[in-house]
Amino acid sequence: METAEELKERLTTMQYRVTQESGTEPPFTGKYDKHFEEGNYNCIVCGTLLFKSEHKYECGCGWPGFWDKDGDIKEISDTSHGMTRTEVQCNNCNAHLGHVFNDGPEPTGIRYCINSASLDFKEK
Ligand SMILES: [Zn+2]
Repeated sequence: METAEELKERLTTMQYRVTQESGTEPPFTGKYDKHFEEGNYNCIVCGTLLFKSEHKYECGCGWPGFWDKDGDIKEISDTSHGMTRTEVQCNNCNAHLGHVFNDGPEPTGIRYCINSASLDFKEK
């Protein structure tokens, strides 16, 4: 594992804030919000596969939306900011990714709302 100092060197300020401090990038600003190439979305911190492009959809909320996961993702109850939400993290390195909601499309009915800053896209 890299130290916090090493991660700060390698990641952008936004990538560090999101993954290590559970931050949220401003909506409609992330580089994968309107990104629909074919490939894999890996964890920006550890490189673990998290999502595939076939499960990405245009959710219109300002962050990349996925209706299913393809990797090892941990779900944690998050009661910060006066809301009860489910936070999702990379199960390998505990990087914060975003949240999961129950308003996604069929067949899962769920929406992973993920920060672009926590993802590293690899073209197929
Ligand atoms: Zn990771």
